[in-house]
Amino acid sequence: MLSEDCGVPHISTGDILRAAVAEGTDLGQRAQHYMDAGELVPDELILDLIRDRLGQADVTSGWILDGFPRNVPQAEFLSQLLKDMGQPADFVINLDVADEVIVGRLLNRGRQDDQEAVIRNRLEVYRQQTEPLIEFYRSRQQLVSIDGNQTMETVRASLQQVISG
Ligand code: AMP
Repeated sequence: MLSEDCGVPHISTGDILRAAVAEGTDLGQRAQHYMDAGELVPDELILDLIRDRLGQADVTSGWILDGFPRNVPQAEFLSQLLKDMGQPADFVINLDVADEVIVGRLLNRGRQDDQEAVIRNRLEVYRQQTEPLIEFYRSRQQLVSIDGNQTMETVRASLQQVISG
């Protein structure tokens, strides 16, 4: 929805990895067992993927990164890459959702890695590796937090408000 509202591509590292798994590429084969376990795929695979994707022609007027960065080294890599590209990020958006709401939504979604034990592990990995990014971006005055415990339409409206400034 946000991609439609902004008219820029939605770049989801999870979608790219799932497509690589489905096609059986080298990347897909190396990534699959991390994804099935709810662990992060190693940075050496993800960073090349992002560098390639942000080098493509359709991102010259903007992009939405979804699911990246997931840890501090990825965030530092992204800052440097965007500096080199001369294309700074306007916002970093934290969608704040209670754990039990997340578990309920994902069990309904039913993706291959949406079994309860894997979801709980993803939340644990989030606490350890991704949550520190809130402070990382807050201290750089880039963070916007949105209450994600709401309907899709309400969250969409909150996002529209943020981007229209
Ligand atoms: P997602 O579609 O964002 O929920 O991601 C699904 C899975 O892909 C995650 O559980 C990770 O195994 C992997 N993944 C996606 N994005 C990243 C990333 N930025 N860094 C490491 N692993 C990732």
